[in-house]
Amino acid sequence: MADSATVESHSFQAETQSVLNLVINSLYTHKEVFLRELISNASDALDKARVTALTEHDLLGDDTELKLWLSTDEDAKTLTISDNGIGMSHDELVENLGTIAKSGSRGFVEALSGDAKADANLIGQFGVGFYSAFLVADRVTVISRGAKSEQAWRWESQAEGTYTIQPGERERRGTDIVLHLREDQTEYLEGYRLTSLIRKYSDFVEYPIELSRTQTEGEGDEAKTSVVTETVNKGQALWTRPKSEITDEQYEEFYKHVAHDWEAPLARNHFKIEGTQLFTGLLFLPKRPPFDLHMRDSKSGVRLYVKRVFVMDQCDALVPEYLRFVRGVVDSDDLPLNVSREVLQEDRLVRQIRSQVTKKSLDMLQELADERPEDYLKFWGDFGRVLKEGLHSDTKNKDKLAKLLRYHSSTQEQPTSLDDYVSRMKEGQEKIYFISGPDKDFLAKSPHIEGLKARGYEVLFFTDPVDEWVAMSLTEFEGKQLVSAMKGELDLDDEGEEGEETKGEELGGLVGAVKGILGERVRAVRSTTRLTDSPVCLVSGANDPGANLERILKQAGADTGPMPFAGGGRVLELNAKHPLIESLQSLVGKEEHSKKLSDWTELLYDQALLTEGSKIADPAGFAQRMNALLLQVSQGLGGAEASEGE
Ligand code: ADP
Repeated sequence: MADSATVESHSFQAETQSVLNLVINSLYTHKEVFLRELISNASDALDKARVTALTEHDLLGDDTELKLWLSTDEDAKTLTISDNGIGMSHDELVENLGTIAKSGSRGFVEALSGDAKADANLIGQFGVGFYSAFLVADRVTVISRGAKSEQAWRWESQAEGTYTIQPGERERRGTDIVLHLREDQTEYLEGYRLTSLIRKYSDFVEYPIELSRTQTEGEGDEAKTSVVTETVNKGQALWTRPKSEITDEQYEEFYKHVAHDWEAPLARNHFKIEGTQLFTGLLFLPKRPPFDLHMRDSKSGVRLYVKRVFVMDQCDALVPEYLRFVRGVVDSDDLPLNVSREVLQEDRLVRQIRSQVTKKSLDMLQELADERPEDYLKFWGDFGRVLKEGLHSDTKNKDKLAKLLRYHSSTQEQPTSLDDYVSRMKEGQEKIYFISGPDKDFLAKSPHIEGLKARGYEVLFFTDPVDEWVAMSLTEFEGKQLVSAMKGELDLDDEGEEGEETKGEELGGLVGAVKGILGERVRAVRSTTRLTDSPVCLVSGANDPGANLERILKQAGADTGPMPFAGGGRVLELNAKHPLIESLQSLVGKEEHSKKLSDWTELLYDQALLTEGSKIADPAGFAQRMNALLLQVSQGLGGAEASEGE
């Protein structure tokens, strides 16, 4: 035993202590899952030992049978979970058990702590694994010896802000997690309870899980105690079994094991590919987004096996980035066992697997969308933004991805698919219309869609910044062009109107006069069929970025240059049938009204900027002109009152 001088005392990193507290306070109704978590960790450590031994041949030595074992001590009231996996060094104990290394964890933990009722599932998303030990233990001792080390270390904590580390004793490589069970948790000393938990949660773990229990035969002085050891789990890789023999519950537990999730999966796809190469896949969709879904270094959730042997987790080469939320395993019969990540990226077989995994994932999504539309909508709300990235990066699967899109629209309560949009298209409507902006209520009132609505055409609301790129990548759907209601000329036939469509002739000299007043701020002025109730709006060229994208780029701090990003470079459209435009027209060419014409034009231009959600260049000028106008009106009113009073 080490003397006290060698005992180091450490404090938990602040976030770690918060997670610990959250676990203990929020998961009290889920206590038994601690066993699954600790077994999963041990199984990961065994995976690592096996994989490392592929290149470092003497790593395992004569201790080649990788396994886990559980033992109990009735007197000490301890349950110990042991493995002969990769083990941990002194620094790894500090790093792995004293801190939460994952990037973004601080923000996540803060978000959780803010919510007094932070529930078990949210915490599960974060993957708190090891700390669940404190659900049943008031003291945890970890004795670990790294695979390449002669020295073992003993880590201990009572979860009260600190832990200690000192040299420890362990004959071989691996880790023992000793749980000093709380008074009311001694049920975890019972062999029967442990056996049933292992069968429930960890039956498919590929390594034998042995349970040693003390048996007493005979009574009194005759009593003989002996230790019996049995292997509790079946240990068969779940995905190798026929689908018909696997229950939903078994799939569910397997998912929780591979995904480090606490909730059941939303959907699954278990398949076997037979052809030029053979592989099996078992893929899942999680119910909730992992906390790091939108982070740059968010990793793939697919594990690679070769002939039932674990090769690596977080295998990015197997799934495109936009499917990084897919969880599960791929087991290939053709890849070599000792592949490295670098080799995988380049490998032709891997590219074929990736393309199948992509297809199977999209099938799984489409099936969910078809069979459980409500669940799909919820999924879409959480993961849609990630999925949309695929439209840009995976042109091969564009059509499949387009079918998975869901958007709010001018006519529907719930987000709609493009297929459903097309099925509702009015006779004579040839294009799919959309409008982009910050939120749907704003867009629903936009002048740009007045003309479309008047014709009974549905308009999709693109409210996610990513949708700007969707619009650029997805130029058509099922042969129907996707058109922005804020860009180009809409070319709506002027229903109910007689005669040829006019492009400004009916506005007489107004077009030229307005252009003269606004100068370089607008590229052109023309009359429009886009509007019904509003007098004016601004539109972008068909291939220009558009007001919404300008705003997004600006917010992102991009240098967008002076033009056309100030509302300039756009076309001002006038609604020739609007009474205001008609009165404006009557001012043209009259010297005495030139100030009025110019003020009104400025006001209408600013109004067009405001209704598209842009900022106006000169708010003070706008206010002055507005006040002058109001004054005129109120003087008019005053005059009327005065004359009435006479
Ligand atoms: P996670 O498993 O999600 O990474 P945990 O809190 O469960 O988080 O574990 C933290 C880390 O501690 C693991 O990633 C692993 O590196 C290490 N660890 C835990 N248990 C063991 C074990 N039995 N053997 C070796 N390392 C372990």
